[in-house]
Amino acid sequence: MFESLSDRLTGSLKDLRGKGRLSASDIDAVCREIRLALLDADVALPVVRAFIARIKERAKGAEVSAALNPAQQVVKIVNDELVGILGGETRRLTFAKNPPTVIMLAGLQGSGKTTLAGKLARWLKTQNHTPLLVACDLQRPGAVSQLQIVGERAGAAVFAPHPGTSIGGGENALGVSAADPVEVARAGVAEARAKQHDVVIIDTAGRLGIDAELMGQAAGIRDATAPDEVLFVLDAMIGQDAVSTAEAFQDGVGFTGVVLTKLDGDARGGAALSVREVTGRPIMFASTGEKLEDFDVFHPDRMASRILGMGDLLSLIEQAETVFDAKQAEDTAAKIGSGQLTLEDFLEQMMAIRKMGPIGNLLGMLPGAGQMKDALASVDDKQLDRVQAIIRGMTPAERADPKIINASRRLRIANGSGVKVSDVNQLVDRFFEARKMMASMAGRMGMPGARKQVQ
Ligand code: GDP
Repeated sequence: MFESLSDRLTGSLKDLRGKGRLSASDIDAVCREIRLALLDADVALPVVRAFIARIKERAKGAEVSAALNPAQQVVKIVNDELVGILGGETRRLTFAKNPPTVIMLAGLQGSGKTTLAGKLARWLKTQNHTPLLVACDLQRPGAVSQLQIVGERAGAAVFAPHPGTSIGGGENALGVSAADPVEVARAGVAEARAKQHDVVIIDTAGRLGIDAELMGQAAGIRDATAPDEVLFVLDAMIGQDAVSTAEAFQDGVGFTGVVLTKLDGDARGGAALSVREVTGRPIMFASTGEKLEDFDVFHPDRMASRILGMGDLLSLIEQAETVFDAKQAEDTAAKIGSGQLTLEDFLEQMMAIRKMGPIGNLLGMLPGAGQMKDALASVDDKQLDRVQAIIRGMTPAERADPKIINASRRLRIANGSGVKVSDVNQLVDRFFEARKMMASMAGRMGMPGARKQVQ
């Protein structure tokens, strides 16, 4: 899922790296690539158009921000816009003030409603809810018993017409299919109230295509049960049809949220990227397999960074943006790149970084930080306090040019900051090592000023 889209988007953004300045034609070229990547991923054309227009507009005005280099700014803009079309904030379920909360599932046959009913029930149970599944899909042979099976797996009670007689595919023989789904839904909610279930999940019938009868029945169930949430279940693999199906359900039944299923398939992802923009309804859950555990709340920001394949780099960029003074950050980046970082800068950076939280967490967000894990585990805030004290014990000249810190200066600094000479030695050695390492990393990441570095 999203793999080829992800590869293409990352590829087009990679071309920008190392550019100190972006021209209008650089922006046009990257937008063209993004547009093709989205169209190939089956994203609906109006969505693509609006997306590209917003990126262009923002990218052209981006030069005013000095906090990030131009390529980083474009990555951030693309990411922001992706999060936006995926819905922005994570949308949680709304629970009724007076239980039971009624959740109705609607969607085409085979979209994964019955499976989802089990997944939702299991997930709700982990949060101490007591869901009741109600079988209102009386059309598809075997749907009632399928719901009973998933209910059993999820450890949730199932309310079905003629309980106890429908297992084994005997619905038709027993005349259950003749039952009225609207009545079953109503009775299911009453049952939940009587038996103290705090959530009711109503599985409804779907057809292979959209038809008036299906919509009429779903609307009847909706009117009879006044659901708190109507979830439209959408198979992510149906490609371009996703948009028209979603629109038909929105007109016919209306829904409060979308659940995308089969995200584990090799679908190109267009459904996910179009449905929110077209219907204005948030994607609330994502289903990624046939097992009940293959299910989670949908987080637009995580999905966007997964699509862009940037790990948590973007959240790091964002935190850095809020903490660092833009001009200072740019100067420091240039100094890092050229290997001219001073202890003074180091101290300033450290203070800024510390404002962002425990250092281990922060460094852990960097892509490729895996190899550095052991080193990171040994960094603690107390050590940083000591480092800070040592640097504060130095004169401005020593901070600016640590090479002048000879033996007698080391002794003076150690005495002044209440540490051993060996601590000062260690800090100075480490600083030189870190400066070298950061300069070479900066070179590899294409940071501004890095090309001066001969490595
Ligand atoms: P319904 O007709 O809407 O109730 O759909 P079902 O729940 O019966 O699902 C149809 C088929 O899709 C079943 O074979 C499910 O096992 C399968 N299915 C449902 N959700 C997923 C999913 O997220 N990933 C995969 N791979 N298969 C799924």
